[in-house]
Amino acid sequence: EPEMAEAARFVVSSLEESGSEAYWVGGCIRDELLGRPVHDMDITTSALPEEVMSVFPRCVPTGLQHGTVTVLHGGYGFEVTTYRTESGYADFRRPERVAFVRDVTEDLRRRDFTMNAICAGLDGRLVDPFGGAEDLDRRLVRCVGDAEERFGEDALRMLRCVRFASTLDFAVAKNTWRGLLRQRDKLAHIAVERVYAELARIMEGPRPLRGLAMLARGGLPARVKAPFPWDGEALAAGAAGLARIGELKSAPLRWALLLHTLGTPAETADGLLRAWTFPGTIRQAVVRVLRVREAWDPRAASALPGADGDGRRRWVAAVLSFGRAAAEGWLDVAAALPGGGETGIAAARGWMAGMPVSGLGELAVAGGDLTAALERRPGPWLGRLLQELLLQAALGELPNDREALIEAAGRMDEHGQA
Ligand code: ATP
Ligand code: MG
Repeated sequence: EPEMAEAARFVVSSLEESGSEAYWVGGCIRDELLGRPVHDMDITTSALPEEVMSVFPRCVPTGLQHGTVTVLHGGYGFEVTTYRTESGYADFRRPERVAFVRDVTEDLRRRDFTMNAICAGLDGRLVDPFGGAEDLDRRLVRCVGDAEERFGEDALRMLRCVRFASTLDFAVAKNTWRGLLRQRDKLAHIAVERVYAELARIMEGPRPLRGLAMLARGGLPARVKAPFPWDGEALAAGAAGLARIGELKSAPLRWALLLHTLGTPAETADGLLRAWTFPGTIRQAVVRVLRVREAWDPRAASALPGADGDGRRRWVAAVLSFGRAAAEGWLDVAAALPGGGETGIAAARGWMAGMPVSGLGELAVAGGDLTAALERRPGPWLGRLLQELLLQAALGELPNDREALIEAAGRMDEHGQA
């Protein structure tokens, strides 16, 4: 980070030497003032994009019509944007027109929240015309200017508002919250991908429950393009079940806990997460975890397998079907439920640790061995027989030994089990 700051300092001072104004702006100043790690540094300047490009040898014209040039220096890329104003937000998201301006205050005025509308110059002096530093001190998210108007221009700002409030543990200023409530129907215009991106940051942040509760309190989940299956009541009812959601380490497990608490079956969850444009890997991870739950208890009436032999059998079968990672994921979710951390989890972990095999690849026979030994053509029977052998080997009812498995296969075949 000191290296990034050094490289950014070079960019800012080069712009000044060329006769322009230049400042660090936005998230980097906010995070710096909060004492949080700064992950990228944006720069705002009076220089026009072509002037910026003439100052630096290595630039990417990222968004010239919006005034943005990415300057490459010292192994970092810095977004350098010309002071601008915006107008005509026809789609409640993007401005139709941008105009380059000469005054930095005009540029700060178009930004969403006071804490994001602060810039700092080379000498460390802040330019903070909207009281952003004071709002940071008071831990408040506040719109620049009239909240109703600002949310009406760009409805995504409502989700950014909740995201900043929940990840930073800030309150929302009264007028800002009121403006949000007045404009919330406009959320329906925001692309689901953008909604998902903000939601994901809320869920991955340190206080997901706070963010979820704020969304519900604002009546926002019902108003987005792909409605979420929770409202204030569902969430309030499930709040006890979600109290420890922040302890879960990965996003898929947090989503799984949320969906479990809301009583969503795995199959329904799959459709929902598709509609919400979840990345496939995250969606599949969530659904697999929910399927583990359903595999040992189709009614999902209780969170954990009973400690009896049947419970063990269903648990081992679930591990084989959905994999160890998903099974461990479900145990982590179950442990985060109220009353979690009980004996069932320890038992399930023990059963899993005791499995001599956990996939067909580890079984001492393959399909070819069985077709040869039983003198049968391959068919659907073969897969079923292999799965049965795998289950018995995983349960320790059969040794994972070629001869023994072939012999058992012969017995099952005779008894018409396959
Ligand atoms: P982070 O990168 O941590 O999400 P950030 O504040 O840097 O936070 P960006 O999306 O990178 O957020 O935007 C950079 C800056 O651009 C913001 O600080 C804000 O000043 C401005 N900005 C971003 N999105 C909007 C918006 N929808 N409306 C108005 N201003 C915005
Ligand atoms: Mg940023």
